[in-house]
Amino acid sequence: MSFVWHPNTQMSEWKEFDHIVSGDGMWLQDSTGHRMLDAVSSMWCNVWGHSETELIDALYNQACMIPHASLFNITHTPAESLAGHLIQICPNMRHVFYTDDGSTAMEAAFKMAVQYWQNQKSPKNMLASLSNGYHGDTIGAMSVGYSDTFFGAYRHMTPRCIRIPTPNHGVTNWSDTLDHLSETLESNKSIAAVVMESGAQTAGGVVIYPEAFQTAVSQICHKNDTLLVVDEVATGLGRLSHMAEYAAQQSNPDIAVYSKMLTAGYMPLAATLATDKIYDAFLGDYSDHLHLFHGHTFSGNPLGAAVANRNLELYAERQLIQHVQQLSRIFADGLDVMSDTKGVLDVRYKGLLAGIDIDINCDVSSANYTIYQIGRKNGVYLRTLGNTILVVPPLAISPEELSQILTGVSDTILAL
Ligand SMILES: *Cc1c(COP(=O)(O)O)cnc(C)c1O
Repeated sequence: MSFVWHPNTQMSEWKEFDHIVSGDGMWLQDSTGHRMLDAVSSMWCNVWGHSETELIDALYNQACMIPHASLFNITHTPAESLAGHLIQICPNMRHVFYTDDGSTAMEAAFKMAVQYWQNQKSPKNMLASLSNGYHGDTIGAMSVGYSDTFFGAYRHMTPRCIRIPTPNHGVTNWSDTLDHLSETLESNKSIAAVVMESGAQTAGGVVIYPEAFQTAVSQICHKNDTLLVVDEVATGLGRLSHMAEYAAQQSNPDIAVYSKMLTAGYMPLAATLATDKIYDAFLGDYSDHLHLFHGHTFSGNPLGAAVANRNLELYAERQLIQHVQQLSRIFADGLDVMSDTKGVLDVRYKGLLAGIDIDINCDVSSANYTIYQIGRKNGVYLRTLGNTILVVPPLAISPEELSQILTGVSDTILAL
């Protein structure tokens, strides 16, 4: 009997869950001794595998110093140096606000964007976002990344957000979306910020933006004096083969958000980064109440920050981005071959992120349930979204293990 209520899970379809007891590099081992390659980086956050001693040491050493000190009235070196690290990585960003996970980091971003205008007595107070985007599961994040299938039950609780339609999977011409965005921002002067995932929509089924799309969104925002918030929770820090994806996309956001991979998947931590322009609008006399009314108990937790610091050092020491760029070519070749596999409808990929649409009919049990079980037999841990299999390997994976993952995935598809 288990008392754990699992996330985003129809509990009735799982008679039991495999108990993961240890990690060895890219492998997960369960209590029966069965091993699976972590093809989803334990929900898109693992970087170096599960037994990286450099990170475990960083965690241990910090725990011996102080495991938790808040950022309320005091500060600590791990949070300070991590902020310095992030500022170096992220062009134009100058200030780092810490939260615990992607959703709360997005909530902080929304509040920053809206209060930025409030503090200047501007009436701008609405958010606009791209349809099919995903920004987390909390109420504010659901409103901005709204999906009827997932969040319909909570619709009445989600504040209105203006959604700009995006094309269906496979459509490469996004000019209608840009036109729609331009018209919306020109006609509606109450929009405080446009919120978008950077580089690609991940939870929306891996939708890769066409070239220059994000640049154009950024230009439209600037032209209309609207802020741009980029969600790099899934796509930043190397997933699409760049540290700051927005820079690679030649876009100029005012706020950028990071979480997954920030600690290499070892601790929950997130960061909302802002430019001087944003930050300065929150300065004033205390009695003006201009400061950001947001903060979490574990904001900037030293354990998370210490691991994140070591993680980002390792990115540089081990030239991880070059590794990802090389690996992404092997990945692309393997995925191109897979697109000819029976049952595969479409394959989309960039960097070390891929979505494979499969032809599967699941009435009673979910595709995810079925695919997990078959993937397990083929030695790969998978978590499917709808009928899209996501392949999101740890960034430091070896070419051999990456090929093993691809073989495991195609064997799984063939066995469906
Ligand atoms: C996962 C994710 C989030 C939410 O992060 P959590 O840590 O699950 O709250 C937000 N945005 C994007 C793009 C994500 O992939």
